[in-house]
Order: sequence, then structure tokens, then C-alpha cells
Amino acid sequence: MIPGAHLSTSGGIHTAIDRAEAIGSESLQIFTQSPRTWRPTNHDPANFERFKERRAEAGIQGVVCHALYLLNLASPDAEIYEKSVTTLMNTMDVACAIEADGVIFHVGSHLGAGFEAGLEHVVPALERALDRCSDTTWLLIENSAGAGGTIGRSVDELAVLVDQLGGHPRLGICLDSCHLWVSGVDVTDQASLSDCIDEVERRIGLDRLRALHVNDAAAPLGSNRDRHANLGEGEIGDGMSVFLGHPKLQGLPTILEVPGPDGHGPDANEIQKLRDLHGRGLKAARPGPRKAAARPRGKTASRAGARRTRG
Ligand SMILES: [Zn+2]
Ligand SMILES: [Zn+2]
Repeated sequence: MIPGAHLSTSGGIHTAIDRAEAIGSESLQIFTQSPRTWRPTNHDPANFERFKERRAEAGIQGVVCHALYLLNLASPDAEIYEKSVTTLMNTMDVACAIEADGVIFHVGSHLGAGFEAGLEHVVPALERALDRCSDTTWLLIENSAGAGGTIGRSVDELAVLVDQLGGHPRLGICLDSCHLWVSGVDVTDQASLSDCIDEVERRIGLDRLRALHVNDAAAPLGSNRDRHANLGEGEIGDGMSVFLGHPKLQGLPTILEVPGPDGHGPDANEIQKLRDLHGRGLKAARPGPRKAAARPRGKTASRAGARRTRG
């Protein structure tokens, strides 16, 4: 795990690195423009250089950019669609300029027209965005919370997208723990989570899984409501350690998109909680030989053994 957080770029894109350092974050996610407007930010190119210098100094291991929430690549409305594609391409250009590892985006909603009809818009949009990728900077589809016809609500839908794009070598995915939960995947249950991750491995490939979003859920399992909660304060609770400790989810930028104590985003305490939950999850996923030996024979011991085999 490379613990990280979504951080502000207020004062220049490079200032996100200072914020990451201040809270002990080793990876980060940023918007490349204000998330509330279509108008792109006119960045001073000198800030791109500052960003890269500061990133190296601070030893930040993972950097991802998040595209606007406004965009809808499945929109049947020609104007919204074109704005969406243009915005995604702009985001990709800025991401490449700062040598980010990827651009994460929500596909959008077919607005009732159906998944197949949505694909006819989404696939050419992604082809255009993929043209702007670099070897370093990938395009990463985020799984959706599943509300209102959103595309990418299941591993199956993500896999169909990757297939339709011919398995493009720079196309990847980002899995969000809250979105999985509200889409009906119990990320606190080792067996349910493993089923999901095994499907990712089989249908998409783990090499395409490039980032995680770690958010507790302020809405019930399968509710399709996208409400993030601070770690330990939502429906996932301490069960997040199962998600964080999963052996096939290690070594990735793991980004918090939580409200934080005052609604201003993740702070040092959230990062610490992330580290603690991860540590607990790793321990549970791989019990050491001493712990296993200390267990009494019988039911408990055999269950621990079964868990170890699966992990
Ligand atoms: Zn997310
Ligand atoms: Zn969300």
C-alpha cells in the first residue's frame, strides 16, 4: 500500500506536494481544474516543473489526477458529450505534463438508454482520451456506485469496456471501496471480496489495477448511494482492514477521498487510521507461524488454516 489522499491544489498544482508531506501521505490525487466548472484552469507551465521537482524531493510514490465529476461520456446530448471528452483530454494533458501515473474518471450515465447504447458513446470517447496517454500516464476507469444508470457498476461492465477498447495497453482501472460496497460487494468479507478480485484478475488482469480509493460508506451495502464517510465512521468500519489487507491489493496508490474531521478532506489522522487498518488487515490475511501454532487444535485452528490458504 502507498497511503495517500485527495488533496487541494489551491495556490498552484505543485502545492499539493506540500500538503501531502504535511499529513504523511506518500501518494496523492488532485483535480487539474476546479471540479465545479467546465472551464479548464490555465496552469503556469513553471508549476509543472515545480511539481515534478517537489515530488522527487518529497519522495511521493504515486500521483493520480481525478477528472471532473460533471463529465458524462455516455451522454446522448451532443454538447455535454463533447464538453466531457474535451475535459477528459485536457485532464490527460495536464496529467502527462506533471508525469502523473494516471487519470481516474467516472464514465457517466446512459440516463436510462441502457448499457449497450451507452457504450456507443463511451468507447469512441475513451479512444480519443487514450490517444493522449503516455507510457507513464494511464487512463483509469473507476468503478461506479451504480446509481442512475451509471456505467462501470460491476467488474463485468469494467471488463466489457476494456475488451471494447481492444485491451489498450494504457487502459486500467481504479477500485473504490465505498462504490464496491454500495454496489453490493461486501468488502469486509474475505470470501465476497476475493470473488470480486478474482473476477478482476480473470476478466481484466491485475496488471491493469493501478489505484485504490479507500472510503468508508455512509450508506448501506447494495444501496447504490455514493456517500463517503471517514475511516471507521461508516458502514464498513473496522472491516476495511479486510479490503486493505487483501494480498492482491498490495503496493498500489491507496487514496482517501473522505470528508475529514471538518469537511476539508483527509488529514494526518485519517492517514494514520489508514496505516493502522492496513497493518491489521495484513496480519489477519497472513497469520504468522507463531500465531498459528499458538491456536488450539480443532475448529478454530482449521478455520485459521483455511483463511491462510485462501490469502
Ligand atoms: Zn472514488
Ligand atoms: Zn464516490
